[in-house]
Amino acid sequence: MSTPSLLILAGDGIGPEVMAQVTRIIDWFGEKRDLKFDVSEDLVGGAAYDAHGVPLHDDTMAKAQEVDAVLLGAVGGPAYDDLDFSLKPERGLLRLRKEMDLFSNLRPAQCFDALADFSSLKRDIVAGLDIVIVRELTSGSYFGEPRGIFEENGQRVGINTQRYTEAEIDRVARSAFELARRRGNKVCSMEKANVMESGILWRDVVEAVHKADYADVELSHMYADNGAMQLVRAPKQFDVIVTDNLFGDILSDCAAMLTGSLGMLPSASLGAPMENGRPKAMYEPVHGSAPDITGQGIANPSACILSFAMALRYSFDQGAEADRLEKAVETVLGNGVRTADLMQAEGGTPTSTEGMGDAIIDALNASL
Ligand code: NAD
Repeated sequence: MSTPSLLILAGDGIGPEVMAQVTRIIDWFGEKRDLKFDVSEDLVGGAAYDAHGVPLHDDTMAKAQEVDAVLLGAVGGPAYDDLDFSLKPERGLLRLRKEMDLFSNLRPAQCFDALADFSSLKRDIVAGLDIVIVRELTSGSYFGEPRGIFEENGQRVGINTQRYTEAEIDRVARSAFELARRRGNKVCSMEKANVMESGILWRDVVEAVHKADYADVELSHMYADNGAMQLVRAPKQFDVIVTDNLFGDILSDCAAMLTGSLGMLPSASLGAPMENGRPKAMYEPVHGSAPDITGQGIANPSACILSFAMALRYSFDQGAEADRLEKAVETVLGNGVRTADLMQAEGGTPTSTEGMGDAIIDALNASL
């Protein structure tokens, strides 16, 4: 089989700082595990605007379509705030998601034991939490037509349309069931079938997909408002949650905060399978470019490193190596190594971005 290919788009702000640690880890897997990647690098966001006058060059877009996975750092920053909407750094990211048709957004909420006290919930509710929210990313009320602000009887009316086709629900449901098979084998589908026709169709299609091809996976349904309540009441009851774009936006942020820190949260966005059977894929930390700490060498690289672990698992079928990397991060945290964002008020000396990378590589070496 040919060497798997990876396009790195480090982006802006702390993006290149955290990505530098990921590059060291990719090298480690090449040297120590004989897991080699054909890595190329390119620009996105403000960095691409500075070089090419656009937030994503067509050549970069073409490369992203060809590789097995894209790994993105972060985009944006105050220097680009006054640009025309079409040239803003975030447009580069949106173009990637749209043209690669990345319809399935995986947002894990995993609470490392050493960080359980960072959560706003009690330790016993979140310690050991390991769930994934699968959010439909390319349809629903953020895209449905008609949309706009219209005049009606002398006043303005704001309209957005929640619209889903069977095919759109079918493919994201499959993505959730496939994911569940690699994890705890449970899917909970969330909608509002009690008050929305799109919710009735959502439930119908999820059930049909389940019956036809995934009867081995345990399926349950929940109204999304109850889901929000259950996420803060007893989040460990879930394994994989699948939901639409709007509910997924809200529920995934809610679930993310169960784990405490933005610097720890990875994500994956997956599309349809390519010819080689791998899904089109982009992996990125949930956080942004953090202009307030850029250039200080203190950003936490864990979210970006854990995004690479997701790439190992979901694009490259290297679940055991993904486990190894996640375990290394957990070990490092367990040993009390902390970047500044993970320091409790009582303090101690924070480690640098590079120091965190060193510690994770030490833990990887110790795992051999
Ligand atoms: P942000 O995520 O960049 O930062 C929020 C806060 O969290 C800041 O205090 C920051 O210092 C801290 N933080 C974030 N990541 C961290 C890390 N790895 N280690 C330590 N601390 C970390 O969000 P923001 O401040 O709202 O946005 C800043 C810029 O990033 C904006 O231009 C925004 O548009 C952009 N943004 C980009 C993405 C993306 O690239 N996917 C996502 C969100 C925001």
